[in-house]
This record gives sequence, C-alpha cells and structure tokens, in this order.
Amino acid sequence: MKTIFQITWFCVVSFLIFMCCSTPLRSHFIQAQDIEQLPNSYEDINTDPNNRKRIDPLAYAPDTSHLDHTPMKYIRMNFHFMNSTDSKNNLTGDAARKFAKDMINTANRNMAKNRKMLLPTGNNTPVLPLQFKFVISPNPNIPGNDGIYFHQDDDLYYYIHRGRNRNRHKRKVINKYGVQLDTVLNVFIMPHHPDSLASSTYKAYDVGIALRNALKINGNIKTKKGSFFATILSHEVGHILGLSHAWLRHDGCDDTPTHKNDCLNRSAPGCEGRTSNNVMDYNIYQKAWTPCQIGKIHAKIARETSIQRKFIEPLWCESKESKHIRITDTIFWDIEKDLEGPLTIESGGSLRVSQRLSMPIGSKITIQAGGTLILDNVKIHNSCGHTWQGIEIQELGSKKGKLQEIGDCQVEDTVHPYPNTQ
Ligand SMILES: [Zn+2]
Repeated sequence: MKTIFQITWFCVVSFLIFMCCSTPLRSHFIQAQDIEQLPNSYEDINTDPNNRKRIDPLAYAPDTSHLDHTPMKYIRMNFHFMNSTDSKNNLTGDAARKFAKDMINTANRNMAKNRKMLLPTGNNTPVLPLQFKFVISPNPNIPGNDGIYFHQDDDLYYYIHRGRNRNRHKRKVINKYGVQLDTVLNVFIMPHHPDSLASSTYKAYDVGIALRNALKINGNIKTKKGSFFATILSHEVGHILGLSHAWLRHDGCDDTPTHKNDCLNRSAPGCEGRTSNNVMDYNIYQKAWTPCQIGKIHAKIARETSIQRKFIEPLWCESKESKHIRITDTIFWDIEKDLEGPLTIESGGSLRVSQRLSMPIGSKITIQAGGTLILDNVKIHNSCGHTWQGIEIQELGSKKGKLQEIGDCQVEDTVHPYPNTQ
C-alpha cells in the first residue's frame, strides 16, 4: 500500500510541476486575425510594377549557403540512333547503348564539377553548382523500354551540315521518330552521309543543333566514344534551356565576356588569355557555366508556361520529408519556386516570398513561434493541380508565429481555407 501511495503522490507532484513550468505548444491554420497587412510601399521593389515583372537570372542562381533551396532538377532525354537499312552507318545494340550512356554520364560528371571561367583574364566570377543534370527517360508505355531507340530509314538517317542538300534544320526525322516529344528531350544521333565522306573536300566535323524540343548530334560516331560528344550535348541542351552563344554581346549575361571566339585551344599560338572555356562558346573545354547562365536555366524551368519546364522530372508534386526546408535566418525568394517538401520557418527565421511558390501535395508551411513569413505579392499554390494543407501558425507561451502580407497575395489549393482568398 505504501508503494502505491508513493507512486500516486509522485504522479500528482509531477503533473503539477509539468502544468506550472511547461508551456504547451498550440497550433492552428491561419485565420483572418493572424494576418498583419504591411503597406504596399514596404520596399521600393514593390512599388515598381516593371521591377516586379522582370526576371533577374542571378536571383535564380543557387544560393551556396542554402543549396537545399534549389533542389536538383532532372532533364529527361531519350536517344535515337538513326541508321541506313543495311545497318552499316551507325552503332547498333549494346555498342549504341554504351555510347549514349557514356555521353550522358560524362556530361553529368562535367556538370557536377563546374569550372572557373578562363575569361576575362583575372576574373572573380563565382563557380556555382548547377543543380541540374541529365537523365535517360524510358517510355513507360512500352514494356522493357530503356529510352534508347533504333531506326532504319535510308531517307532520314543522315545529317548534312552545309551545302545544297543540307538537312540539319529539318524536323522531318524528329516528327517521324520522336517519342514523348512534349515531355522528353529527343536526342538524334546521326552519321555523316557516306557520299559526303567519300568526297575529298568534305570536312567530317562533330557538331550538334538544337531544335526547340529535340536536338541532333552528328559526327564520327562509329570511331569515337560517347564521352567525346558530352560537351556537344551540354552545349545544345544549353540552347534548348534558353542560353545564347556566350561570346556575343546580347546573350543577356554580364558575366560572359564578348570575345572573338577564334581560339579553340589555349595552348595554340597566341591563344593564351584569349581562349574561353564556357560551355556556350566554341572551344575544346566547354565546361564552365556562369551564375547568370545557371540562373537563366533555373528561371526557364520555374516558369509554368515554358516549354523547357515540361522536360523536367516534376519532383515538386510529391512531398518528401527529406526535402523539408527549415528557415533559420533571413531569406527573400523574389522568384518562382517549386518546393519538394514541407516548409518551416523556425524561431528567429524570416522568409519573404514574392512571385510564385508551389507547395507539394499534402505538405504545409509551418510558422513556428518567433518565426516570420512575409507574403509579398505572391501566389502560393500546388502546381500539379492537387492540394496542399495550408499555412499553420504556432504559439508557445506569449510567443507566436507571424504572418505579414504585402499587396495582392493569393494562397490557393489549400485543404484548410486561407482567409483572404476563399
Ligand atoms: Zn551553339
């Protein structure tokens, strides 16, 4: 009996201590009284409608202090080996598959290790991670398909770069043999025509061309490794993702200097200090991507209406705890963004979001006590046409999460109705 009495007494005392000394955490989804309106002139950027519409590529470049804020984007592609009906003019079977995999793996290795720009001499251009890579995308509607296709067509298998019979811009081969053209970048591997090769004046270059939703790679495919063509692949995908040639004045990037583009190799006479290594210049390196170029690509991917976005694996639909973003300092996302997991603004953290933010299906935004979320002329939604939970605010004692609004904000597709928009 004594023991039971002691246990009961211990429990009562523990309960009283808990009630006196601990502060329970309370949380609820946003209600009208939680929202604090800030003036629209909060900062100059908000009062200038032209500013609001502009796309600043650098704002889209990955933030190396918070790399998780720019999840890796996977660019889907498939490969088509074009051949004559006698099968003599291109790789077949496992050799072709190895060629395609060598090319894509080498391109991904190059892109995972961005290089410092060689031009301008003495530059301090930051070397940022790209946060995008290539992936072979099989067609799920074809059993056993690996995303590598073989076609025999005596009229369409070859590529002619110049001259009377040139066909490099022609889309006939793409229209006839393309697979999933609206969601997968189709890469056509095309040989030189045997008649061209037989000519003593013909220069059998290794080249590529970007054609909006597909690209052609042409060269000495049977005598070179797939890895040799990796930089051609990256260059052409760069075009498809919105990049211009970098040596030109109007490529939209201040960090890609103009130059004559007449030095392919810096060890050539007179080329030291005049040779670029940028992926969008012509040179034997093509491995450097500037912050502006990387930002331009992420901006294109983030724009909901862009063709380029359709080629990206939509990993922003399903919510993953491993992609949970926790804000602990002061962050401003003045861009369009697609998150892949929940978002929590922790105590002491402040997040301001402008333009567009997509939350994955079933996820929520949590503003912890002492955290601040500022919605600044933003649309928050689920870009996959489903729902997400909404914005939850937490209270701990006298401390409460803060939600502030500037201008016209729309919070859509939420399971828990958001007061201003429902
Ligand atoms: Zn080009």
